[in-house]
Amino acid sequence: MDFLICIQKTYDILNDINKTRKNKSRSNKISWNWIASHLIKLFNQYPAGITYAIVFSELEMEIDNYTQIKNDNGKKFESIQNIYERSEVSFNSIFNVTLKEIKTIPQTNINVFSLQEIDSNCTIDMIVHQKFFNVIEKFKNTLFRRPLNVKFTRTQVIKGMNPKLLPTEYIIITLNYKEHIGFISECLDKMSIDDILNNKVLNQEISIIVKIKEIKETKTYKPDKDTKMEQKEIIISDTKSQNTMSLFLYDEQISFVRLLKNGDYIAIYNPQIDYDKENKKILNYCLDTIFIKIEKEEKQNIKHLKLSSQSELCNIPEDDNGILDFSQFQERLYLCDLRNNTKNVSIFCQIIYIGNNNPIIVDNAIKNRIGIKIQDNTGIRDITLWDNLALQMLKYKVGYYIFIENLITSDYIDNTFYINGIEEFNCKIYNVNCLKSIISSPSFRQINYLSELKSKNEDNVFCYCNAVIIGWKKRLDDDLYYFAHSNCEKALSRHNGIDFCDQCASPINNEDIVSLYAIDWVIDDGTSVLTVSADSSISTEIIGVSINIFKNQNQDVKENILNDIIGNEFIFGICTLPRNEYRIDCICQPEFEEYDIKNYIKKFS
Ligand SMILES: [Zn+2]
Repeated sequence: MDFLICIQKTYDILNDINKTRKNKSRSNKISWNWIASHLIKLFNQYPAGITYAIVFSELEMEIDNYTQIKNDNGKKFESIQNIYERSEVSFNSIFNVTLKEIKTIPQTNINVFSLQEIDSNCTIDMIVHQKFFNVIEKFKNTLFRRPLNVKFTRTQVIKGMNPKLLPTEYIIITLNYKEHIGFISECLDKMSIDDILNNKVLNQEISIIVKIKEIKETKTYKPDKDTKMEQKEIIISDTKSQNTMSLFLYDEQISFVRLLKNGDYIAIYNPQIDYDKENKKILNYCLDTIFIKIEKEEKQNIKHLKLSSQSELCNIPEDDNGILDFSQFQERLYLCDLRNNTKNVSIFCQIIYIGNNNPIIVDNAIKNRIGIKIQDNTGIRDITLWDNLALQMLKYKVGYYIFIENLITSDYIDNTFYINGIEEFNCKIYNVNCLKSIISSPSFRQINYLSELKSKNEDNVFCYCNAVIIGWKKRLDDDLYYFAHSNCEKALSRHNGIDFCDQCASPINNEDIVSLYAIDWVIDDGTSVLTVSADSSISTEIIGVSINIFKNQNQDVKENILNDIIGNEFIFGICTLPRNEYRIDCICQPEFEEYDIKNYIKKFS
């Protein structure tokens, strides 16, 4: 599998570079999973092809960002000294200072934070944003009694003899867990995500302590036709249970992200509980909301495990709930390594069976659910995919190599444990067979001969071959196209008098019916001739005419269009199927100077 070779080569080189730059901040090995998932992301960004030079420069940059985020030293803080020198600051500057005391301007109710640079005596005053008035009043004899570390952004300078800072609401107070344990347990650690999800927080002041699990990419959000907002979703996980929730920030509020990072523990004080479109509870930042960062050593029990694929004992951290966390695991994990009660398990494998959608009702909501069988060279396993991941699987085919990130496994139930792919646990599935970038990149793919592919005599072998189309065949007896369910591209079947798709477990409306090409192609590379099937999108790429235009032509024109394609050369990603059948999973134009098969064949015919 060419992709595996790419990962291995990248892994070896990146980790070798590490060895030779030991003096640099990066000392940890870059994990196999990290490379696999970042390579796939890169491949998706470069569908027309990529070189190792680009891969390494992009990954090096990512690694630097990643290690900086991990060490929290990537953030450059603005200094108070600079304000006195320049009298201005960028709106995007981040300050990391000590809040020494809170003063009140005489004869007003305006509060002022007296801020001091860490490691120097330089101080400046900031007018306090009114959102803090309530908490200052409430906690003046507890939290604000001592100096506190605060980080903030989006402030401006009032110039003058004694410059001051304008109020900003984008302030995060940082508390050391041990030093402030009394205040934290009494005032901040009041409930859990569980309580919020189960409606146990009526008429109470809401304050939860959570861990930031994932800060997602900013999206455009349209609450209605005329409004457009930037939206940031932050996945937060409970510190008392496995539950997660989404916290949303909009437009300017997104500035908070500069002060936060994955893995931070934060207290969210006074968030607004709301519902998303799917009626799921979410949290919003609102005028009264305050974030307090809690610096806490994560309780880390390390388990020493013997994994079948590894020669040495592995140290796997266990989270607060006794779940083994594989997120930092260095090497490739295999199916034989899987065990109960784990999370963040990432596997590279091949699909060998895809079940039908088998939805179940949980909490009055229908949850899509699909079982698949996957294999690698250590075994075969069943996985259950939920919700959108199940729907994503409907378009996948047996034989696809996939990389699945962040699976979780259950505890033992009747002598067995279950493997689940759940979006909320950050599970993602990537299809590797159809990655355009690999087939388009000479340095990442190896070209095989059709004769080699034929001689493999095995199902689910995937190879790239450079060949010429020498003919086409109707896959169905009567026509060159068929009617299918748009979701899964399966041919329609009649069920109880209505159109029903067994695979998707859903009725089919008229607008869900699409026409798709049903053409097999005969290809030749000079070593052998194969008949290969292709799904409609591949055939569209070969023919260059969309099915909706094609199907309205008369029979002669249709045949002419197809006959015109004979002689065209492509590189095909081909998967072997049972009964000596073959399927094209991806395709690209060849680089003519390198592989001129057409001339080669002509010479011999
Ligand atoms: Zn369907």
